[in-house]
Amino acid sequence: MKKRKILIVGAGLGGLSAAGCLLKAGFDIEIYEQAPSLGEVGAGIQMSANAMHVLNYLGIGEKISAQSVRPEAYVFRLHNTGEIIDRFALSDEHLALHKAPYNQAHRADLHNLLTEMVLELKPNSIQLNKTLKYFEESDRGVRLFFDDGTNVIGDILIGADGVKSVIRDQISGKVPATYTGDSAWRITVPKEALPENFMDHVMSVWMGPGKHAVTYWIKGGTLLNFVGCVETPVASDESWTAKFPWEEMKSNFKGWHQDIQTVIDLADKNECFRWALYNRPVVKNWSTSQATILGDAAHATLPYLAQGAAMAIEDGAVLARCLKDVSETSEALNLYQRNRYDRTKKVVETSNANRKLFHLDNEAEIRAYFSDRDEGASRNDWLYSYNPLTTVLK
Ligand SMILES: Cc1cc2nc3c(=O)[nH]c(=O)nc-3n(C[C@H](O)[C@H](O)[C@H](O)COP(=O)(O)OP(=O)(O)OC[C@H]3O[C@@H](n4cnc5c(N)ncnc54)[C@H](O)[C@@H]3O)c2cc1C
Repeated sequence: MKKRKILIVGAGLGGLSAAGCLLKAGFDIEIYEQAPSLGEVGAGIQMSANAMHVLNYLGIGEKISAQSVRPEAYVFRLHNTGEIIDRFALSDEHLALHKAPYNQAHRADLHNLLTEMVLELKPNSIQLNKTLKYFEESDRGVRLFFDDGTNVIGDILIGADGVKSVIRDQISGKVPATYTGDSAWRITVPKEALPENFMDHVMSVWMGPGKHAVTYWIKGGTLLNFVGCVETPVASDESWTAKFPWEEMKSNFKGWHQDIQTVIDLADKNECFRWALYNRPVVKNWSTSQATILGDAAHATLPYLAQGAAMAIEDGAVLARCLKDVSETSEALNLYQRNRYDRTKKVVETSNANRKLFHLDNEAEIRAYFSDRDEGASRNDWLYSYNPLTTVLK
């Protein structure tokens, strides 16, 4: 029987992982990416066991682990004193519970490994400078039309084209993007610039009125990653490359703990990026009879649970299983959405709820929240314990 050809639009973390899972399941794939070159931005990314299962399956788990930091714990701190209000163990406990590690990696390292893996499985399968405009479906298959005037035909289309997905817009209609009121500063500082023994190898969320910061080590502990999410009335670009003045970031974190001041003071003043965070409702209808979406295209989320890319990676693994198990494409795509909708919606909703929690201005409320709840047990129970390769498909 002829292999079904799957066209994937978008060579981000989601598109590349899906490509690997589909190639390993025996499908032919082709990836179309709008950018003139492949790559990712210079920032950190957290990969918990639920995503690491897939990276292990794709044969890059050990390689990414070797380039990452395995944090001892996840800690929640007060913004001014640094006092730890709650903590749950990661490292050995996460590995023992979920049979895969919790890694903090550099996005570019992960992206490079995924790219290499795909090209090893199918050389020349990624076409660059290909911006999709729209697609058409017929009895012959699904045809993609690019802005350079070319078109291609395949059997199935996967839209892994991110938050501004044109494939989602065509399948489900335009989805409104509403500014959350938050923007995320992003900087990295090399270890050698920082004082000796600066910050443990933990994942820290620093919570303060109207803003929070996240700090963790990447690149084997040689680079500190800082993300500072601040309530900002004026919306700017939803972009990884938009830069803003260092002075603004410095003033945003006035009065915060000395460690935060140290990180900001040592940042490269010309490399202060800020991404405006938008909310989009989780799309209800992901698929047509021959096309579907995954990752941020389907369920963009605030990064307040560090699970957006993990969900994209899970999606690809489940989608490949559905297409392999069910030969009728539209049934397979329905099975895929049915098995992904509730989980991804819960991630979006929990991330939204964390926005409120992380930005409380009342310390007593923060303490009350954490005294009522076992954050680690909850995440271990529903979030990190999921294995997209083995979960029973319903
Ligand atoms: C500050 C911040 C921190 C985060 N931290 C984490 C974390 O720790 N852990 C985690 O799991 N997630 C995290 N995320 C979320 C994560 O970055 C995203 O969920 C993830 O990158 C989505 O992957 P994707 O492949 O769906 O989309 P993208 O990475 O956006 O990839 C989409 C690709 O499609 C291409 N494309 C778009 N339109 C077209 C077109 N028309 N034609 C052709 N190509 C096109 C783009 O160029 C791009 O390469 C974070 C997000 C932010 C903002």
